[in-house]
Amino acid sequence: MLSANLNDGLIYLTGLPVLSLWLIFLAENVIITVLVLLIGRQLQQKFSVDTLINYSYTRREWQLCGLTNILNTLITYAGFWLWKSGFIKIETDVSLAIFLDFLFLFFGMDILMFVFHYMIHQTFLYQSVHRLHHLAVHPKPIDLFILHPLETLSFGGLWLFMLWLYPFNICAVVIYLMINIIFGLTGHLGIEPLPANIRNLPFIKYLGTSTFHHNHHQQERYNFGFYTSLWDRLFGTYKA
Ligand SMILES: [Zn+2]
Ligand SMILES: [Zn+2]
Repeated sequence: MLSANLNDGLIYLTGLPVLSLWLIFLAENVIITVLVLLIGRQLQQKFSVDTLINYSYTRREWQLCGLTNILNTLITYAGFWLWKSGFIKIETDVSLAIFLDFLFLFFGMDILMFVFHYMIHQTFLYQSVHRLHHLAVHPKPIDLFILHPLETLSFGGLWLFMLWLYPFNICAVVIYLMINIIFGLTGHLGIEPLPANIRNLPFIKYLGTSTFHHNHHQQERYNFGFYTSLWDRLFGTYKA
């Protein structure tokens, strides 16, 4: 059973020295980053009409990406420590709860991140924190990791707060984390792999597509959501 295996994995980690844990969590974050960059490049090559597209990243972009990976490792360790210390509880039963918990995580994080993102655009924090991410007017995959340290830590804080709220199922947590990465990559592809007729299908039209987040980088007054466009549609900040 997947949830039993995941639970065994967590319990196995509790027996490891702290240094090993840091290295495992760092490796996990680096592997995710490498996959995002590689898959992102493949998708760009497959779908881009611009044959002159520049796939190389600057030294500063690599440095910021590295810093984000270190901070995400810190957040992963913090989550593990909070779970080990009993502040965060994780369910391991296989039930309908996996689906419901996933929906709770997906929409819960979507609204929390929407509010955080909207607020950061309206305050002094935009210039000092969020502007760094907006240097990219035509985002590319590495821009998912081009974030001010305070922004990375804030998103991590929202995530740990969410886990503290409720004992989510371990499978729902893993599925949510994978989908979070897919949406992050999608938003920073710089191209739109989905044809308009698919993007306009029921349900899919409410999801945060490449075009949705790309439009936010181009017109910062619109599209503050991440996974869905629901909150932007509700609060009048949606741009197709
Ligand atoms: Zn923004
Ligand atoms: Zn972005």
